[in-house]
Amino acid sequence: MEKKLINFIRFFLISYLFFISLSPSIIKITQSESTLQIQEYKPINSQFSLNTTLADQYNSTFAYNNIQSQLDFGYRIPGTNENLECANWINSQMQNYGESEIYNFTVNEIPCRNIISRINPNMSQIAIFAAHYDSRAIAEKDLNDSLRDSPILGANDGGSGVAVLMEIARVLATSKINWNISFWFVFFDAEDQGNSGIPGWDWCEGSKWMINDLKNNPNVYFRDTQSLNSINSFILLDMVGGDNLKFIHESYDSDDLRQRVFEIGHLLEYDSTFPLDANEYKIEDDHVPFAKEGIPTLDLIIKFWDLTCGWPYHHTSEDTLEHISRDSLEITGRTVIQFIYEVYNPELGFIEKFSSKETFFSNPIVIGAGILIIGVSIAILIKKAVMKKN
Ligand SMILES: [Zn+2]
Repeated sequence: MEKKLINFIRFFLISYLFFISLSPSIIKITQSESTLQIQEYKPINSQFSLNTTLADQYNSTFAYNNIQSQLDFGYRIPGTNENLECANWINSQMQNYGESEIYNFTVNEIPCRNIISRINPNMSQIAIFAAHYDSRAIAEKDLNDSLRDSPILGANDGGSGVAVLMEIARVLATSKINWNISFWFVFFDAEDQGNSGIPGWDWCEGSKWMINDLKNNPNVYFRDTQSLNSINSFILLDMVGGDNLKFIHESYDSDDLRQRVFEIGHLLEYDSTFPLDANEYKIEDDHVPFAKEGIPTLDLIIKFWDLTCGWPYHHTSEDTLEHISRDSLEITGRTVIQFIYEVYNPELGFIEKFSSKETFFSNPIVIGAGILIIGVSIAILIKKAVMKKN
C-alpha cells in the first residue's frame, strides 16, 4: 500500500513539472507553407538596426486624405445613408488591395454593416487590424450645451483608425513580400453609440455581432485551414490621430503583444507614444469580444477621458480634421507596419505566437500548484483511510 502511495505522489509531482514546462510566454509555430520566396527585403540582423524599407512606404498624407474622404460623407451614424455610403466607399477602396466584403446585421431593426477586407486570404494564420467607422450620434461632452444633442464628425474617433488601416493595407498590398499569414482589415459599424447615443443600444455592437457570427457561421469567414484559433493577433486602432499621441496599457490586452508593439515603437524612437511603464486601464472597446475568446488583442487607444491627454475633443463637435495630427497618423501607421515586418516576415521561418491575457487561474504555475495540492490531499486521505483499516 505504501508503495502505491509513493507512486501516487510521484505521479502528481510529474504532472506538476509537466504543467510548469508548458509555461513559456512565447511559443513559436513553425511555418506550414513551404513556398516562401522573397526578393526585395532582407531579414533583420539586429533588433537595434531596423530595416524600415516597408514602413517607409507608408504615406501619412494619404492617411490624412482618407479621413477627409470619410468626413465628406457627413455624419456616419448607424442606419443612415451617410453611413452606408461611407461603408461602400471603404469596401470599394479596399477591393483595390485585396478581397473585401460587407457583412450585414441589424441592431434593434436598424441595418448595420461590418466590412472585412482580406489580403493573402488563404494562409493558416490570421493577423487582424480593426477600427470602427461609425460616428457618434451625440456630442454629449461639448462645452456648448446647445450642441450636446448634435452628432459628431468623428475625425479622430473612428475616422483616424480607419484611415491609417486603409493606408497600411495599401502598403502591404503593394509590397513584394510573399507573406505566409493572412491579413484581415475589419471596419466595425455601431461601436460608438451605447444607450446614450441610440436608446436601447450597447457599445461595440458590430464587434459583438462579428465574434458571434464567427463562432456560429465559421464557414462564411474562414478558409479551409482556418478557424478562430488561427487568429494570431488582433490590433485595434481607436483615436490615433490626436496631438501628443500617448497610448495606454489596456487591461484586456495580451501582455506580450503589447510589449512587442511598444518595443518596436521605441526602436522607431516614438518613446512618448509608447510608454513602457504606464498604468493599466479597462476600456470597453471592439477588442474586448475577441479578448474574451482567448485571442491576443491590443487596443491602441489614448486616455481620452483626460483633458490633458492631448485630445480634449472626445465626443464633442470639435472632433474635426483641423484637430488631426499628421505626425500621429505617421507614428501609428509606421509602427504597425514595422510590427508586421518584424513579426510576420516570412524569412523568419516561423510565426511568433502571443499569449492571450493571462488571468491568475490560467497561469500554468497556478494550475500545477493546484494539482499538486489536490494530489497531496488525496494521498493523505488515502493514507489515513489505510491506517484506519489496519
Ligand atoms: Zn467614441
